[in-house]
Amino acid sequence: MDVLTSCPDCGSLLDIEYEWDKLPVPKSMREFESRWSNRRDPLDFSGVWRFRSLLPFAADKDIVTIGEGQTILQQSPAVGKYVGMNAGGLFLQYEGLNPSGSFKDNGMTAASTHARMVGAKVAACASTGNTSASLAIYASTAQLFRVVVFVGSGKIAYGKLSQALDYNAKTLQVLGDFDDALERVREVAGERGIYLCNSVNPFRLEGQKTIMYRVLESLNWQVPDWIVVPGGNLGNSSAFGKAFTELKALGLIDRIPRLAVINAAGANTLYQLYEERGVRWDGGMSDHSTVETFFSDMDRENRKASTLASAIEINRPVNLKKCLRALDACDGVVRQVTDQEILDAKAQVGAGGFGCEPASAASVAGAKRLRAEGVIAPSDRVVCILTGHQLKDPDATVAYHSGNTDLFEEKLGMRGVKTAEYANSPIVVENNLQKIIEVLER
Ligand SMILES: *Cc1c(COP(=O)(O)O)cnc(C)c1O
Repeated sequence: MDVLTSCPDCGSLLDIEYEWDKLPVPKSMREFESRWSNRRDPLDFSGVWRFRSLLPFAADKDIVTIGEGQTILQQSPAVGKYVGMNAGGLFLQYEGLNPSGSFKDNGMTAASTHARMVGAKVAACASTGNTSASLAIYASTAQLFRVVVFVGSGKIAYGKLSQALDYNAKTLQVLGDFDDALERVREVAGERGIYLCNSVNPFRLEGQKTIMYRVLESLNWQVPDWIVVPGGNLGNSSAFGKAFTELKALGLIDRIPRLAVINAAGANTLYQLYEERGVRWDGGMSDHSTVETFFSDMDRENRKASTLASAIEINRPVNLKKCLRALDACDGVVRQVTDQEILDAKAQVGAGGFGCEPASAASVAGAKRLRAEGVIAPSDRVVCILTGHQLKDPDATVAYHSGNTDLFEEKLGMRGVKTAEYANSPIVVENNLQKIIEVLER
């Protein structure tokens, strides 16, 4: 079975389009609320599939679900203050609460479903960690197909690698970076008829649309002013744009929120192209030559992505075009933030909420920048997507809080993080009651 992910003629990624006029479309988003009372049905329990009439590509019997999408939108006064919002204006969407600990499960449940529909025997992905953890958990629980994951030899957080290994996925560590690993896995998938689960797979994006449905649901179906999301391979931002474009076209929302995509400064292709070189969607006719020149310069100068936020350490975002479309639909902006800003924001998210992994905190750091620039108004309602769980990357967290910035360089290969302003360092104390009491009262 040949499953294409890109157009054989032009090479662009495929996109899912529905014939909505032939489908039973809900008349109002409130219709989904009736599913809450039917939670014993796994499809209605799932935070992805209770919205299945908005991603209607699968018959119910083919759907692979493990209870993904039980995530929450939390108002965060502490983080809101840090970002510079008025009281009550900042919300955190905790996608780390998914079964494998990242938002990737929203997409992988959809890709696994499609893999089952086409009878795939083996599925594969390249990953900076979370995609492989997610694919591996679906394969281990569904037992429908085997999995091969390709990880690069750049940074990979052990929390994530440990998941792929524990879920018994065949794990290949390619001697190259993530971009190399993705190229190889696309070749292997083509050669061997293996089902490809990277975000080149358009079904993943269909599942990820539901993150936005759940945000709206939590806000009593009101549209916020801003969605702020970290950008790596740009699958999430692309999916969000598609979600809102479709909802608007279907008359289910009356306006579209603005979208801010946040790059790490060490992996800032989208920022460079969109903000510095003015590349736009232009109705699908975006300026190819500027993009090509950018990538060929990158190759010639051997520029590699480098950031402590390993989940977004990607220089060749495969969903670039779809993301440009999303930015166009959502009047979007792109910003870059340093690793220092990311770690400081992460410490604030931890101190004021459930915590997150480094890449996720780029959203909060980005919101803070946009607030400082006046692009985001203090009175706006802002939703920052926290893409991954706090326990994914404990090395980065412990290095920051122990205030041991040498550790960044030594263990995480990072330069440029100089201070740990919000560090909550462990206190070393003698094994002695009196000394312990002294420390407690200090
Ligand atoms: C994959 C991932 C991202 C990047 O998402 P894209 O859709 O590739 O832009 C950000 N944060 C975390 C935790 C991730 O796992």
